[in-house]
Amino acid sequence: MSSTVLVINSGSSSIKYQLIEPDEGTVVASGLVERIGEGSGHLRHTYRGKDTTLAEPVPDHGAGLRRVLELFAEVGPDLASAGIVAVGHRVVQGGARYSGPVLVDEKVLADIEELIPLGPLHNPANLRGIEVARELLPDVPHVAVFDTAFFSELPDSAATYALDREVATRYRVRRYGAHGTSHQYVSRTAAEVVGRPLAELRQIVLHLGNGASASAVVGGRAVDTSMGMTPLEGLVMGTRTGDIDPAVIFHLHRNAGMGVDEIDDLFNRRSGLKGLAGHNDVREIHRLVAEGDAAARLALDVYSHRLRKYIGAYAAVMGGLDVLTFTAGIGENDDIVRSEALAGLEFLGIELDPERNAGRVKEPKVVSTDSSAVTVLVVPTREEQEIAQQTLSLL
Ligand code: AMP
Repeated sequence: MSSTVLVINSGSSSIKYQLIEPDEGTVVASGLVERIGEGSGHLRHTYRGKDTTLAEPVPDHGAGLRRVLELFAEVGPDLASAGIVAVGHRVVQGGARYSGPVLVDEKVLADIEELIPLGPLHNPANLRGIEVARELLPDVPHVAVFDTAFFSELPDSAATYALDREVATRYRVRRYGAHGTSHQYVSRTAAEVVGRPLAELRQIVLHLGNGASASAVVGGRAVDTSMGMTPLEGLVMGTRTGDIDPAVIFHLHRNAGMGVDEIDDLFNRRSGLKGLAGHNDVREIHRLVAEGDAAARLALDVYSHRLRKYIGAYAAVMGGLDVLTFTAGIGENDDIVRSEALAGLEFLGIELDPERNAGRVKEPKVVSTDSSAVTVLVVPTREEQEIAQQTLSLL
């Protein structure tokens, strides 16, 4: 077996992992630990097409990762003979400081901790994941790959909020973006699929998963993205509002008596598709629409409307558009959302081919007509593979 990288994505109550051969992009084994710190934990480890599942309490991230390493030893593959050369960690917020992957050392850990105010929902768990992994796998280098890195060089005009400059500077309030690893991988792959140099393309990438974000990419560099200081801004998401008038916060605070934490929870966890239609999974929304549910219909309409606004805005920002690519859970699987999002955009040169667009997409694929001026693609995202490759590139 060639060299492998263990990619770890540590969330507040979960650890997802993949053991990857970066050169070929092969996933050797994968799994997840869920409901960490809750009464009943759940583990799944997949190796050679076989799932091993366990239900047992997992008190903390250290216990979870220790159990994962035991599963590698019991079920395989044995990590030592699998040629593990490094661990790559997904970190959501790297601030303006990190424009690429870095070897983890005490300074990097301190920086990730220091950036918690800018990534309060993710950085604490990312940090914990790195700390326990370094304890348990001390003999290999650990690399942090930041979700913000691809957007760290956004033009100032796109990164800057029209906020009092002194306040913004003192509290580092600016747009950092997120999902950068996915946008970077997908925009690079899209250029390969259309067979044109990345340097000459104006692209929009729509990463539509439970979290959702759009980016405008010119010549392989991001020039705008929809997520802002945190992943709350931008598109309608599974449970997040996306763009909303900030005065709604003042209104709810003054007139509904809601505190900041309650509004934070409302905007991040009880809004988006879930807030509008009761479900964050778009498959449920389609089911309700088919039953004539008006709230579900409105949820999809709001979702597509927001997407169309961003597509138009980014075409304007770039002075034109060559390639538009859908990715992530909804982008790859949901032909209805793809077609509703692009409805009426023929004036921009976007012509979807209904037959090519039909169904779920497992490999990169063109879904526009041959005469469409803009090539529309679906490219399944490979965030873990990208993290593994970036990790290896540092060694
Ligand atoms: P992600 O965050 O990329 O894993 O995407 C998760 C979301 O993708 C789910 O909440 C669903 O809304 C959507 N999704 C996953 N599978 C499908 C499918 N087969 N058809 C439509 N949507 C799907």
